[in-house]
Amino acid sequence: MNDALAPDSATLHQALVTLDTHIDIPWPPGPDPFADGPRKVDIPKMVRGGLSAGCFVAYVPQASRTVANEDAAYARAIAMLDHINAMGRTEAGITARVTPTANEIEAAKRDGVCAIVPCVENGFAVGADLSRIGEFRARGARYLTLTHNGHNALADSCNPRRDLGDRESEHGGLSALGRAAVAELNRVGMIVDVAHTSRDTMQQAAEVSRTPIVSTHSCVSALCDHPRNMQDWQLDIIRSVKGVIQITAVSAFLRPNARPEDVTVADFANHVDYAVKRIGIDHVGISSDFDGGGWFSDWRDAGDSANVTAELVRRGYDRGALEKLWGGNFLRVMRVVEEEAA
Ligand SMILES: [Zn+2]
Repeated sequence: MNDALAPDSATLHQALVTLDTHIDIPWPPGPDPFADGPRKVDIPKMVRGGLSAGCFVAYVPQASRTVANEDAAYARAIAMLDHINAMGRTEAGITARVTPTANEIEAAKRDGVCAIVPCVENGFAVGADLSRIGEFRARGARYLTLTHNGHNALADSCNPRRDLGDRESEHGGLSALGRAAVAELNRVGMIVDVAHTSRDTMQQAAEVSRTPIVSTHSCVSALCDHPRNMQDWQLDIIRSVKGVIQITAVSAFLRPNARPEDVTVADFANHVDYAVKRIGIDHVGISSDFDGGGWFSDWRDAGDSANVTAELVRRGYDRGALEKLWGGNFLRVMRVVEEEAA
């Protein structure tokens, strides 16, 4: 680190709304989020790392698509959303607040409290009952990741689950139900997240959605060819629909087959640089996938978040650019989705 720059980037980091758009929670419920414990993101680490806001996901693993399994997935998502909402409290002088809107995220920063944004990962939890999307929204959820690993009733995944009988493609992208689900997400004010989806699903979601789509945790294929990463033509679609790709801290998405301990924030910043050069500063953001597989040598947990800013400052990103990358672009999409909701 250039010591002459370090104090400036640290001060700048503290001044920014810093939103990490993909963080898992332990399930069944694990260590207290107000304890500085084994979680990569807990409230003390957010404070220490100057991370002002996080999207915490109710993630449900894919299972065989029986009605019983879909019902269980829904019940789990609801229980996890309730758990995420319960993080909004004050303990030992530290306050976390559930902030489902862009304005509330910014207000939390002004008030010096941690902002918690509930979200849902894997449309499997929707089953065939689109009214569940409104139930997620009623619990503050702001995005739905359409798939995880494995196709579901809504859409094809980029990682078919052969063990569950998946072929390469089942729906050819979005199913008819999946198209209706996108419309329902638009109606209730949830963002369509295409991380984990097949490329056809992503392209169709961009066409069908009335609001910008996002990938909340992906990197770029040009630097690391991986099914979870976006090819150049997909980045171009993100720009054309005014969406955003949130570059993520998963080592194997950043460098082929890399171990986390061998990856640095420079590798992460290479993906940010590439995406910014390709589609512009307004369509790129930052995520960790902490507690879901993301971390690397100098961004091990939320307490290290200032290292990301330091590297980006070294590469010449100014305050305005950092504001956009660290949350401004995602907040812009949130606002559009809020305004378009019926
Ligand atoms: Zn994920």
